[in-house]
Amino acid sequence: MRYISTRGTAPDLSFEEAMLTGLARDGGLYVPETIPTLTFEQIAAMGGQSYEEVAFTVMRPFIGDTFTDTEFRDLIAKAYAAFGHDARAPLVELAPNHFLLELFHGPTLAFKDFAMQLIGQMFQLALGRKGARVTIVGATSGDTGSAAIEAFRGLDNVDVVILYPHGRVSEVQRRQMTTPGEDNVHALALDGDFDDCQARLKDMFNDFEFRDGVKLAGVNSINWGRVLAQVVYYFTSAVSLGAPARKVSFTVPTGNFGDIFAGYIARQMGLPIADLVVATNQNDILHRCLNGQGYHKGTVHPSISPSMDIQVSSNFERALFDAYGRDGNAVAQLMTELGEGGFDVSQGAMQALAEIYTSGRTSEEETSQTITDMLARTGELLCPHSAVGVKVANEMRDASVPMITLATAHPAKFPDAVEAATGIRPPLPPRMADLFDRPERLARVPNDVEALKTHIKGLIRA
Ligand SMILES: *Cc1c(COP(=O)(O)O)cnc(C)c1O
Repeated sequence: MRYISTRGTAPDLSFEEAMLTGLARDGGLYVPETIPTLTFEQIAAMGGQSYEEVAFTVMRPFIGDTFTDTEFRDLIAKAYAAFGHDARAPLVELAPNHFLLELFHGPTLAFKDFAMQLIGQMFQLALGRKGARVTIVGATSGDTGSAAIEAFRGLDNVDVVILYPHGRVSEVQRRQMTTPGEDNVHALALDGDFDDCQARLKDMFNDFEFRDGVKLAGVNSINWGRVLAQVVYYFTSAVSLGAPARKVSFTVPTGNFGDIFAGYIARQMGLPIADLVVATNQNDILHRCLNGQGYHKGTVHPSISPSMDIQVSSNFERALFDAYGRDGNAVAQLMTELGEGGFDVSQGAMQALAEIYTSGRTSEEETSQTITDMLARTGELLCPHSAVGVKVANEMRDASVPMITLATAHPAKFPDAVEAATGIRPPLPPRMADLFDRPERLARVPNDVEALKTHIKGLIRA
């Protein structure tokens, strides 16, 4: 299995190389050259299997000879062992034919743990056997950073540096990043918003001297390994509702388009998905684009679902690559236009996108009202991101097809919004109850790439 860049000019790579590098050297994102498919029988056989067994079947065709079967099974087992639920990703019924997929039972209480815990294991084995080391630099709106720090803390071959927007993450998110004491972990509070964090990260990747000097690696959802790990729960949840004999639909609270793109990959692999619904908050650039209004950047409006406060949705590039018939030149052109403010999507590409994705958006009031309503009607306490999903799913769903809405974080990760909507302050799970007592360690950094590069060179150990 080879991986190619969405901008068409970077060299193609193996799974291991694509995973360890992150962003392609032409600025593009890596995607598999072809998408392997599973047969009806292979998917049907997942009924009754453990999460880990399904994970092996789904991901194995993508990893080539990077790991042996025995190694890969072992990595998967270690990745999910610390999850707080035996099913890993349990389904809860909200209403007839509407289900919530709880993706928040990992160590940092957001779905990012599904990919990051596995990536941590894969990096450790791949780097350890080569005697190599890397500096992971990540940008986060809160959840990627905490998941990455949790996955890489204390590892010998990795320094991990996380850029988060100062003052724009929840206190639980910030503390999950600033309280680990290991000296390979560094949380940097950047003076800017999440798009600034992502842009400075891309600047660093595009400076090849810096990139090669510090052996820069990326674990944002630009990293193919992240997307791949998220394909698995589309299979486990759909099969538990009768797939492949029956179609199901998904609604996905969306920011960087990684999670929903994993659903598209599941569909390409043969999972019968009827609708894939993109749910956005008031930062609705994706919703507007999917409704034919082009992709034009505005400014971020901070919301109660901060992990989706975004204007530049990195993984959308992967969707555009397929919608433009895998024409890397066309994608490179669009991304140049995006640098100048935005682009319009061609009619053919709009048609291709419309065959796969639909979308909806919610206002702040609707999100909050959904948290209130769902608690009253179902007893389920939703985090604000999951509430965006539930609200959009209720609007878009066809009552005859099971709808699965992804619950992307635990309500205790966003206690202020949940308390404002319900009067209930959701407690942290007992295993992290002392989070507010631990000392914090962080550095404030300017929104300036040169200053950042100097700062990072001073932090890393090699
Ligand atoms: C990251 C995140 C999202 C958005 O996921 P994408 O893959 O970036 O679209 C939604 N909800 C929560 C809680 C998140 O952490």
